[in-house]
Amino acid sequence: MIIAIDGPAAAGKGTLARRLAMHLNLAYLDTGLIYRAVAKRVLIAGADPEDAVAAEAEARAMQPVALQLEGLRTDEVAQAASVVSAVPGVRAALLEFQRDFAISPPDGKAGAVLDGRDIGTVVCPEATLKLFVTASTEVRARRRVKELQDRGLEAIYSRVLEDMRERDVRDSERAVSPLRPAEDARTLDTSDLDADQVFQAALNLIGSQNA
Ligand code: C5P
Repeated sequence: MIIAIDGPAAAGKGTLARRLAMHLNLAYLDTGLIYRAVAKRVLIAGADPEDAVAAEAEARAMQPVALQLEGLRTDEVAQAASVVSAVPGVRAALLEFQRDFAISPPDGKAGAVLDGRDIGTVVCPEATLKLFVTASTEVRARRRVKELQDRGLEAIYSRVLEDMRERDVRDSERAVSPLRPAEDARTLDTSDLDADQVFQAALNLIGSQNA
């Protein structure tokens, strides 16, 4: 079983993906973290995220241990991730790892949940279930502010909102693997739902699909 969850930042993908994986005993891969790790490596090397050659080299050299680098969850790294992830060579270098994870999940699990931007469209077009999880930009920005503040980081709503809009545009308008729902994806708008309601709605969709 492969569950593909796509959508923009802070729509609730990660929380849902983690809960579904736990509930269904599946492996979980946060693919955004992979792009963040590439971006972080580019920044650590002192290169410019806009430098496609440097970004591709870091993507090719990347090992899973880079997913444990510190500071991957900051908005600075998120912005850099959205720049490096538009480079076709970066995406190509990371594709096999993601597909292998989905097809042969670790720890003997019978399937996997992957979340990102292009899981249902490019990484796992054969997924059992495809969800497109979204919410209004304002709701997502408020959630991100809370998340950053809960982690003790400084966050200003107007700044976070602006960054989010910028990242949405870049992720949706890039030429390779743009953020968009797969044709057979079910859309879940989480603007007015809490995490429990989102989880329940996803379980209902899985149930109705299996019925
Ligand atoms: O999901 P997260 O916010 O951690 O992703 C960071 C960035 O990585 C996104 O804004 C997007 O540019 C990129 N990304 C991507 N494809 C994915 C996952 C993330 O391009 N499958």
